Amino acid sequence: MSRAKLKALEELQEVDLKIRDLMAAAEQHPARLKQIEGDRSQAKSLLDGVRGKLADNERARKQNEQLLGAEKEKVKKWESRLNELKTPREYAALARELDIAKKTNETAEVELRRLVDEYDDLKKGVGEAEKGLSAKDEVVSHEGKEIETLLAGVESEMAGLQAERGKLAASCEKSILSKYERIRKQRGGVAVVPVVGGTCKGCQMNLPPQMANNLRTGSDIMTCPSCHRFIYASDHEQDEAQAET
Ligand SMILES: [Zn+2]
Repeated sequence: MSRAKLKALEELQEVDLKIRDLMAAAEQHPARLKQIEGDRSQAKSLLDGVRGKLADNERARKQNEQLLGAEKEKVKKWESRLNELKTPREYAALARELDIAKKTNETAEVELRRLVDEYDDLKKGVGEAEKGLSAKDEVVSHEGKEIETLLAGVESEMAGLQAERGKLAASCEKSILSKYERIRKQRGGVAVVPVVGGTCKGCQMNLPPQMANNLRTGSDIMTCPSCHRFIYASDHEQDEAQAET
């Protein structure tokens, strides 16, 4: 009967579908790995950004402190000279300079206080960003290892399936096998299907009644006239055929 001849092909198809599913499942792992690595590098650039701002803040603070120190020295010197001046005009001129210097110093002091406040916030931000990065690092090392293990499992399972496939393929007739390869490529991996109630389960089209009849009783390997898949009578129909005889 055609069913028996297609048995090896059906088993081959089962293995091929397992291979297909395994490959589809394995494809998700590298994508996940890429995602968690992307998350980590994002956390890293966040940390780099806050660290950069902290360094800017420290630099600006040092500059303002130096400026303020120098300006205060100047003011002290000028103040001591005020009494030595001989004319009111000279006095007024220096007093004006002193005013400007004092105002500059006030501004610098305000800026310095702002920088000190900002420094505390930035320092806190760096701490948080460091924690964020180490959490992402943890995910990469932990889940990365898991994925590696999974992929190794996939690899060995795949090797087993390929070996099984080789054995099954060797037991099929060459001409049938090459036709099978062609059909499964065109028909989404399924090349051998049962016929139930006169309907091809591959394409859901009805077979001509005579053909359905031949399928149950004949010994030739048949293909569906619509989708060209290999067809066999389902066990249920075989039972019916046996009951009729
Ligand atoms: Zn069909």
